[in-house]
Amino acid sequence: MPAPLSRGCARSIVGFAAVLSLAHAGAQGSAPARPEDTEVWQPAPPVVTPPPMESNAGPSDAIRLFDGTSLDEWVNTKDGTPASWTVMDGRMVVDKATGNIETRRHFRNYQLHLEWRVPADVMGTGQARSNSGVFLASTGGGDRGYELQILDSYRNDTYVNGMAGSIYKQSPPLVNAARRPGEWQSYDVVWRAPTFEANGALTKPARVTVFFNGVLIQDDFELRGETVFVGTPSYTKHGDSAIKLQAHNDPSASPAFRNIWLRPLP
Ligand code: MG
Repeated sequence: MPAPLSRGCARSIVGFAAVLSLAHAGAQGSAPARPEDTEVWQPAPPVVTPPPMESNAGPSDAIRLFDGTSLDEWVNTKDGTPASWTVMDGRMVVDKATGNIETRRHFRNYQLHLEWRVPADVMGTGQARSNSGVFLASTGGGDRGYELQILDSYRNDTYVNGMAGSIYKQSPPLVNAARRPGEWQSYDVVWRAPTFEANGALTKPARVTVFFNGVLIQDDFELRGETVFVGTPSYTKHGDSAIKLQAHNDPSASPAFRNIWLRPLP
């Protein structure tokens, strides 16, 4: 459910004031940045009911990154060993003890399809409710990269630039097309990687278009840099990159994934 207007506005105003005061304090070299400084609570994206779910196994030229049977295309981010999340009944389930996993292969520009499902009996609130994510390009260990958020956003109040379909802390989804827990959902992504000069200077920011359950939620959004939990995004030069799935450190049950495929683009 969206936050009540007064509460959200109050938070937004407080957040804006905090950003201003931080900028001022930063200029004077004091006051550390806080995660809540970059949360946006209003306006809440309108809720829309998506069309019926149709699983999509992809066209003939797709690279199957997960077909429900094997994690051969994936490695553990922390040490590059074969991915050790659980595969059962045609899906893979996040193993929080193992941590993030990422593709063996590296990609630049691509079309990506991915299906995910929050457990029907999920507990928790806000960001602690089946939080995961797709890092559209992994730029290092842990959560380094550009995160397309995965979260139960069916009647779950949180900051809108951290809900399902957001480019985390940068761009809320245009609408909330989330299905209820227990139902499969899909992301279809067109990712255009950033480009850099040899000396590391940014020549072209990353851009992303995302459909959530068949509904457009990110329309050729230009990213401001890598995802950061605290502070301001920025770019650091990188080349072709793995795609990474997040094992989020919260106590709620994790989502499962199935049917992940990709088509490289020029
Ligand atoms: Mg996440």
